[in-house]
Amino acid sequence: MTINRPIVAVYPGSFDPVTLGHEDVVRRTLRFCDRLVVGVARSSTQSKRPLFEVSERLEIMKEVFAGDDRVECVTFSGLLVEFARSVGARFIIRGLRAVSDFDYEFQMAQMNRELWHDVETLFLTPDVHYSFLSASLVREVASLGGDVSAFVSPAVLERMRHRFSDRAPG
Ligand code: ADP
Repeated sequence: MTINRPIVAVYPGSFDPVTLGHEDVVRRTLRFCDRLVVGVARSSTQSKRPLFEVSERLEIMKEVFAGDDRVECVTFSGLLVEFARSVGARFIIRGLRAVSDFDYEFQMAQMNRELWHDVETLFLTPDVHYSFLSASLVREVASLGGDVSAFVSPAVLERMRHRFSDRAPG
């Protein structure tokens, strides 16, 4: 007998800030997933100073994904598999942009499977327009005064404008 359980997935990341590439991955996931929990990692591997605090990133993401009640945005700390388990998700979504993403993603997927045998990591490729896009590149371009309006939603752009005008000298 087959029991139809809802398909629940988590999409973890630092999302500093959330880009149109991330949004594209979310949209694609919702084609096969009933509920998606987007998790902003509190313990980030990001080396540089963050642009937005975790709480602010969460606020921005809630605004960006407000139109779809299948998407829930939360923060998490600790092991990703524990986070997935805690929200009833057996699927981890990750984006793959280029071969350069592969080594790290492959290691992480294998490690997560060691930690929890029932978890599956699913890799999605974005629309080709976003295949070069990363949050760190958006931060860098914006910090140098470049136009990033083609890479982030208006809500994100607005926050970035404020952030960089706050930081501007004089
Ligand atoms: P960053 O965007 O700086 O790579 P994140 O930690 O926010 O960092 O990324 C979270 C996940 O989203 C990762 O799996 C990453 O590969 C994926 N991702 C980020 N940007 C894109 C994009 N443009 N297209 C597809 N996946 C992406």
